Amino acid sequence: LGYSIYDESKPKANQVKHSELTPSGNKKKNLVILGSGWGSISLLKNLDTTLYNVTIISPRNYFLFTPLLPSVPTGTVDLKSIVEPVRTITRRSNGEVIYIEAEATSIDPATKTITYKHTKDHEGNPVDSRFETSISYDYLVVGVGAKVGTFGTPGVDKHACFLKEGYDSTKIRRKLLDCIEQANLLPEDDPERKRLLTTIVVGGGPTGVELAGELQDYVEQDLSRWVPTIAPQIKVTLLEAMPKILAMFDKTLIDYAAQILAESNIDLQTNTMVKKVDETNVYASVKQADGSSKMVTLPYGLLVWATGNATREVITDLFKKIPEQANARRGLLLDDYLKVQGSDDIYALGDCTFTKYAPTAQVAHQEGVYLAELFHNLAKVDELKFELSKSVLDTEKTNKLNRKLTRASKLEPFKYVHFGALAYIGSEKAIADLTWKDWQTFQSGGLFTYIFWKTAYVSMCLSVRNKVLVCVDWSKTAIFGRDTSN
Ligand code: FAD
Ligand code: MG
Ligand code: MG
Ligand code: MG
Ligand code: MG
Repeated sequence: LGYSIYDESKPKANQVKHSELTPSGNKKKNLVILGSGWGSISLLKNLDTTLYNVTIISPRNYFLFTPLLPSVPTGTVDLKSIVEPVRTITRRSNGEVIYIEAEATSIDPATKTITYKHTKDHEGNPVDSRFETSISYDYLVVGVGAKVGTFGTPGVDKHACFLKEGYDSTKIRRKLLDCIEQANLLPEDDPERKRLLTTIVVGGGPTGVELAGELQDYVEQDLSRWVPTIAPQIKVTLLEAMPKILAMFDKTLIDYAAQILAESNIDLQTNTMVKKVDETNVYASVKQADGSSKMVTLPYGLLVWATGNATREVITDLFKKIPEQANARRGLLLDDYLKVQGSDDIYALGDCTFTKYAPTAQVAHQEGVYLAELFHNLAKVDELKFELSKSVLDTEKTNKLNRKLTRASKLEPFKYVHFGALAYIGSEKAIADLTWKDWQTFQSGGLFTYIFWKTAYVSMCLSVRNKVLVCVDWSKTAIFGRDTSN
């Protein structure tokens, strides 16, 4: 603390002009939001942006609707249908919002400044940054999410694809189609052919299960028509370290999902922990019934690592600057109002925090909506204090304002409402584990749930444009099938 990263000699991007005053003449506060994911965009969409000078900083200039990302590699849904440009959102805000495409590299609570620069291109490759600059804030909201965690498993970073960002889905698709075309040149009994046609998905959470289901659908519904000699040999393997997949669901649904996966020829291997990966093999330790474990070697053509969250550097760096965060590891520690413990003006939400809630879009979204409410409140309190400072001689007015201030200062702590969990498991089946107003729990699986799954996701899609695009994609897939172009 006390160490300043703010260098006066550097050019300042916050010289971009915001209107400085509120209608009553009070000075507007600078609200800086980091990230353009579920948390930050939910906040932005619900915030009255006339109350603050709002700046949003994120390296990704669009919001990504992650629940449908597993449908993108196979072309069931087009990537462009599930992204919404940040500038479309800022343009629709009632007040002016400045968007800066950059990655925050450092947060300094002592001087209340953010340093940011370009670090990656649009395919996630590192770029040599020429320009680093900073901006100061009165309030900061940190919504930078998490990065993919590989638990230090050797070779994963180098050889596996991830399923986190838009470009990941493109990479998976190209690799899958490359493997198929390469295999096509090899003789029927060549082990290399078998390897190339094996896709291994690591992680039995919703993301891994959904991707495996989508890949198997693609093989059975489309590739079987386009490459009939190869399609039957394509194998999708799903690896899970724990004894069960989809741990957040009810047991009957887990069993149902496992049964559907088995029927659809997905090779599900539980109790299997990946230890190492090289260019062509996955080395895993399989827990046996007697408690011992055995190493297995699994050749693959395409490998997707679909599990694990790790903390971003900008967050671990912040842990060191706030004494109350010294013991934080998996994310920022918050109070009941989503304020970062040990800070007066930094709030955080979503996957970059460590709370009693799971790191999901549902949680990040509700936190964003809550923070919008909280910031409306802070603005109101600020405004009333400003009015009070002007009315010191008027006792009647002062009393009235004080009463208003007491009322405005009251805000309920954040409370998460769990609406349930949904997952697509392939073969046009989905499972839903829904909680309805705390008094009824509804569980289901099957075709009805699949239709429900589709409707539920479409209604969660944030813009009308995206809703239409996703429905068009689904219809296109139903009528014409998915294509095989890379
Ligand atoms: P994110 O949405 O990840 O957003 C983080 C943002 O911060 C991004 O815009 C990123 O570019 C930006 N950023 C990163 N570093 C910096 C930096 N240094 N400075 C500034 N900005 C930065 N959840 C569900 O509830 N239901 C689902 O069905 C579901 N399916 C999923 C499927 C997939 C494939 C994945 C990957 C996730 C899924 N999730 C789902 C989880 C959900 O997406 C996350 O919990 C959610 O995105 C968390 O929101 P967030 O705002 O914290 O982070
Ligand atoms: Mg966010
Ligand atoms: Mg997102
Ligand atoms: Mg496409
Ligand atoms: Mg985290």
